[in-house]
Amino acid sequence: MARILTGKEVADALTKQLAKDVAALKEQGVTPALCILRVGERAADLAYEKGALKRAEMTGVAVKHVVLPEDASQEQFDDALRKANEDDTVHGILMCLPLPDHLDSERARKMLAPEKDVDGCTDLSLAGVFTKKPTGYPPCTAQAVIEILRHYGIGIAGKRAVVIGRSLVVGRPLSMLLMHEHATVTICHTHTEGIAGIAREADILVAAAGNLRFVTEAFTNADQVVIDVGINWDAEKNGIAGDVDQDAVLPHVRAITPVPGGVGSVTSSALIRHVVMAAKRAQEKA
Ligand code: NAP
Repeated sequence: MARILTGKEVADALTKQLAKDVAALKEQGVTPALCILRVGERAADLAYEKGALKRAEMTGVAVKHVVLPEDASQEQFDDALRKANEDDTVHGILMCLPLPDHLDSERARKMLAPEKDVDGCTDLSLAGVFTKKPTGYPPCTAQAVIEILRHYGIGIAGKRAVVIGRSLVVGRPLSMLLMHEHATVTICHTHTEGIAGIAREADILVAAAGNLRFVTEAFTNADQVVIDVGINWDAEKNGIAGDVDQDAVLPHVRAITPVPGGVGSVTSSALIRHVVMAAKRAQEKA
């Protein structure tokens, strides 16, 4: 049976370290602060926000909460983002994207101050991921996968990693991060032919397709570590489930992250880590 790589264990270890970092910053008169800017009440936004609030409280990071109504105007949104950008006491801004359809998510991405982009959505953050330079921050989900592999001592250097999914939020930045850790990376997408065969060769298989139970035993090998990033609604179980058919795959791989309780639980800790880094960078600049 596979080892279960639980996200909570990773998140708790990160939280412990971050609490120390925050205490040290507070002694120097800096309180790391996150501004959460949300429009409306989408379930996915509320879930991410809940995790962020919990980890912020556990680490001592301050949170400013800006919630706009679902029908907020572009002007109202721009005004709220501008204020957060200009607020020197705010080190990181989490914008819950995408915004409702009547608001311009692309404009918001361009407006966000890159140095406060703790969830890696601006062009400068993505350039930083590509060039391995500290401009902005990687998207938190991609970072969370790296944190899980590190925490459980799973070697990345020299290994074959296969990432299913090429979105700018998960697949592509994660592939870059894995390559920076010296993995040999293959990225698969909807046009990939023979995907199960490619996946079967992987030492580390990451499923980030958004496709319920897409990854079956045919994608795996006995030494493989499987990271399931997917979050899908499973009507049969009346709950969320990943991209991996966990029941079918579990007996046939070395280790696997569960859903729920895997990558998603580490994402908010990665976010808080970026806020603390942003506070440190701001302090160094001052
Ligand atoms: P997305 O923008 O829809 O991208 C999905 C990617 O998967 C695309 O590149 C797509 O290929 C590829 N794909 C979809 N079906 C495929 C198939 N049958 N075979 C091969 N490739 C396939 O989704 P996303 O934002 O990256 O999110 C991916 C999943 O991760 C979703 O379930 C999402 O809910 C979850 N997620 C989890 C977290 C977390 O914290 N755990 C955070 C963010 C997202 P094409 O490019 O060819 O279309």
